[in-house]
Amino acid sequence: MTGRVLSFAPPASRDGSYLALELLPGRVQGALIDPGGRFRARREARFDPAAPRAEILAEVDRVATGLARTSRLGGCVISAGGVLDTAGGRMVQVVDMPSLEGCAIVAHLRALVDAPTLLEHRARLQVQGDHYFGAGQGEETFASVATGDTLGVGILYQGMILAPDGGRSGAHMTVASGQLDCSCGKQGCWRTIATTAWLRERAEALGLPPLDLPAWERRAAQQTGLDQDPRADQDPRPDQDPGADQDPRAAAVVAEYARNIAVGLANIQQLCMPGLFILHGEAAQASDGFRATILETLRDLSRTGSETEPRLVTTSLGEDDSTLLGGVALLLHHGLPSIG
Ligand SMILES: [Zn+2]
Repeated sequence: MTGRVLSFAPPASRDGSYLALELLPGRVQGALIDPGGRFRARREARFDPAAPRAEILAEVDRVATGLARTSRLGGCVISAGGVLDTAGGRMVQVVDMPSLEGCAIVAHLRALVDAPTLLEHRARLQVQGDHYFGAGQGEETFASVATGDTLGVGILYQGMILAPDGGRSGAHMTVASGQLDCSCGKQGCWRTIATTAWLRERAEALGLPPLDLPAWERRAAQQTGLDQDPRADQDPRPDQDPGADQDPRAAAVVAEYARNIAVGLANIQQLCMPGLFILHGEAAQASDGFRATILETLRDLSRTGSETEPRLVTTSLGEDDSTLLGGVALLLHHGLPSIG
């Protein structure tokens, strides 16, 4: 396994702004960010993830040029999920946006914005963002966890971002052989049980409208009246409010979802021992009780008796900011003149 050595010394002489883009299934967000991590402008566009490549790139271009024309660019970075050839600047495997497979996105953007351009996996930029601007400052080893519609883990290990060629973010590691079908063509991937899509499928299976985690937690709280604690269903109050949304199954679904997230984290703890997990997305915004269930399960599943207990914290950065900020950190210490 290879890593990339990081040393962070923003050059005082470097001015101008950096263009950071994040390509998600159906959405591209971008920002102009200065070397100190301050956001100067933002743009976003949405598209059909199944659209032809030209249609998706047109939206990327619209966001990029809309931001780039207002400032002199020190560099450009774009992040995405899937399997990426970061050295060659190509997207290799992108199951959620198949038309982009094989796309030489770096050459495309470099020509568009006329600035040095890098491609990196979004999970690795998220951990980079936490390290330089967020809750991972001062830490040498930790994991940064994306939850919600996207799922993935980036790992900083003894000061190096783990970035093996062809490496993914963990979303497609097999956690339950022969179980639910995944968009990647396999079965039993972590993401089949630990993303918002699983919550929506649970709702459908129970004959409910599509529910996200906050809606499930509200149902769980209404059931018990015990302040959204997913374990509170073990002792339901006899005088619970018989409201229209009351559903005795909600607390069980919420707790199962928390445990499903913990399953993947426990495997990562077993393998890489990050110790500290910084949560982003759905799990970061959920109740304390939800995260307590994740942590309890994580500790149970990863216990070896010799290491310190894993810890969970929530991101200190804006929800859409960490990957973009990580992109700027990457540009700042990558040696830009050699890659233009
Ligand atoms: Zn998969």
